[in-house]
Amino acid sequence: MIKFLDLYKINERFRDEIDLKIKDILNSGWYVLGKQNEIFTNHFAEFCGVKHCIGCANGFDALKLIIKGYGFSKGDEIIVPANTYIASILAVSENGCTPVLVEPDINTYNINPDLIEEKITENTKAIMVVHLYGQTVNMQKIRNIAEKYNLKIIEDSAQAHGAVYHGKKCGSLGDASGFSFYPGKNLGCLGDGGCVTTNDDELAEKIKTLANYGSDRKYHHIYKGVNSRLDEIQAGILDIKLKYLDNDNQRRRQIAQYYCKNINNPNIILPVEKQMPILDNLSHVWHIFALRTPNRDRLKKYLEQNGIEANIHYPTPPHKQKAYKEWNNMQFPVTEKIHNEILSIPISPVLVDAEIEKIVRSLNEYV
Ligand SMILES: *Cc1c(COP(=O)(O)O)cnc(C)c1O
Repeated sequence: MIKFLDLYKINERFRDEIDLKIKDILNSGWYVLGKQNEIFTNHFAEFCGVKHCIGCANGFDALKLIIKGYGFSKGDEIIVPANTYIASILAVSENGCTPVLVEPDINTYNINPDLIEEKITENTKAIMVVHLYGQTVNMQKIRNIAEKYNLKIIEDSAQAHGAVYHGKKCGSLGDASGFSFYPGKNLGCLGDGGCVTTNDDELAEKIKTLANYGSDRKYHHIYKGVNSRLDEIQAGILDIKLKYLDNDNQRRRQIAQYYCKNINNPNIILPVEKQMPILDNLSHVWHIFALRTPNRDRLKKYLEQNGIEANIHYPTPPHKQKAYKEWNNMQFPVTEKIHNEILSIPISPVLVDAEIEKIVRSLNEYV
């Protein structure tokens, strides 16, 4: 069976370095908010090309902390893509703000910038963009709108570590960005982890404080904060894996290129890179390779029968979830079409050529 994502194989490559690092941390006697956290967040800020990186407990907290850090709350509206993993939208709701859903572009699956302006009201405070599946959003159009209406741009970069838009890294494309280091992400740790990146000095200081019980110094609390910190062990592991991220993303790109060139089946729609019209550009880091097909469940079953594990990202759109029952009757036809037809095939830096070839062959033989 070709696994959808072989996390053991991904991390096994770094076993010796990780073993040494954990030993080091064990010996240090210091396990939360120490040297490892500082080293990694400095390296990751440098990697993204921003002034600040603040570690936190997971990607969801990163997004929540940004919204809380800006002081957005009840009555404030934040534009979000209708087509995303529900975490992006929950982060808005959790702060008491109202998520305002916008349909995606059917080709990139990312938020359609041309549909944003009509959703802006006097209560709109920010646009949250999600670089879905690893592909950067069309930021130029988003920036023009944000400037015109004086809105903050929040990036959900949980799927796009290392993606580049017009020469700048994801995480530096808006006012603040949230990353997840969940094990399955392009940069993942061995548990939960996340961070916020920003060039905003004031916001960075506030988020750092908020994430540590609102404490600016020991036993002195200036905000009603939360506990959301990146453990020393996870930070240490992330610092090891960060060195290999660009290489891993390059391998993902190579596999995506191979898929795009060689999958040839009238029943299958391949993903497209939109920012620049060439196949080998850097705007996509292929966290997920999602194709579309009219009878998705049938293709998924066929692949499984052929020893290939496929997944669906995601089977039910947020507005159709029970958690958002107030939206269940709303219609987002593009989002719904994508959710009905999407299927993710394996893509990861540890897939070998024989596996990739087998996946292509099986897809081409599918009728
Ligand atoms: C994974 C993910 C998150 C949440 O990250 P966690 O670390 O699991 O909390 C948020 N948004 C998107 C788009 C994601 O893929």
